[in-house]
Amino acid sequence: MKKLYFGSNLKMYKTIRETTEYLISLASLTGDISREEIELFIIPSYTSLERASAAIDHNLIKLGAQNMCWEEQGQFTGEISPLMLQEAGLDLVMIGHSERRHVFRETDEEENRKVKCALEHGFTALLCIGETAEDKKYGAGPEVLRMQLKKGFYEVDPSHIGKIWVAYEPVWSIGVSGTPASADYAEKMHKEIKQCLLELFPEQGAGIPVLYGGSVNPGNAEELIVQPSIDGLFVGRAAWQADKFNTLIRSAMKAAGR
Ligand code: PEP
Repeated sequence: MKKLYFGSNLKMYKTIRETTEYLISLASLTGDISREEIELFIIPSYTSLERASAAIDHNLIKLGAQNMCWEEQGQFTGEISPLMLQEAGLDLVMIGHSERRHVFRETDEEENRKVKCALEHGFTALLCIGETAEDKKYGAGPEVLRMQLKKGFYEVDPSHIGKIWVAYEPVWSIGVSGTPASADYAEKMHKEIKQCLLELFPEQGAGIPVLYGGSVNPGNAEELIVQPSIDGLFVGRAAWQADKFNTLIRSAMKAAGR
């Protein structure tokens, strides 16, 4: 049976104390669920990382950063180096979240440099991809996703495949004004993504987990997780209270026959 992935990006929410309390509570609530069955990860703000990392058992919850510079050091004011994230004992780095791409204008070329740098420094690289509402209107979603994957994983050494995760997050589905993708639509796009990953990495591409994100909530988590090409749920708002996230994870697992 495939492993199910559940994670949340805390964006620019929660203080250090709130993040630590949230993580401790989530670890305790979900502690009885076998980590052979699920991978649980949380991506807090930079300032919370060191304290959070020391406070939790990384076997229960993997910890990630929301972004990272592609250089180890230098004249990059406001950026965070992979060496600094290693010091904090992190497991993964999220790259190319929709808000990084669309609010901060990051490009596919920059995401590619970050992916390679994260992998070279031993992190799991979680590459986020997704089409805009306009791309979707013109029926160009699959092409946009393929482009983001081809550029994002350009010249990535296949030996790193075990440490690559992908999150499909349609831009129009994310956040307070987002509309969740239907399970059918999400499955169709996940199939495209998986096909493209196989073309990019013929030997190992099938093993890359692809998570759906964008207005996941208790009302749609079950129908999404049972789709054959959806390996996990990347949840924003609906995960930011530990008890609610725990309930969502359990109901999704149940729906998936666990
Ligand atoms: C996100 O921003 O990555 C996200 C999935 O948010 P939400 O679930 O709140 O739409």
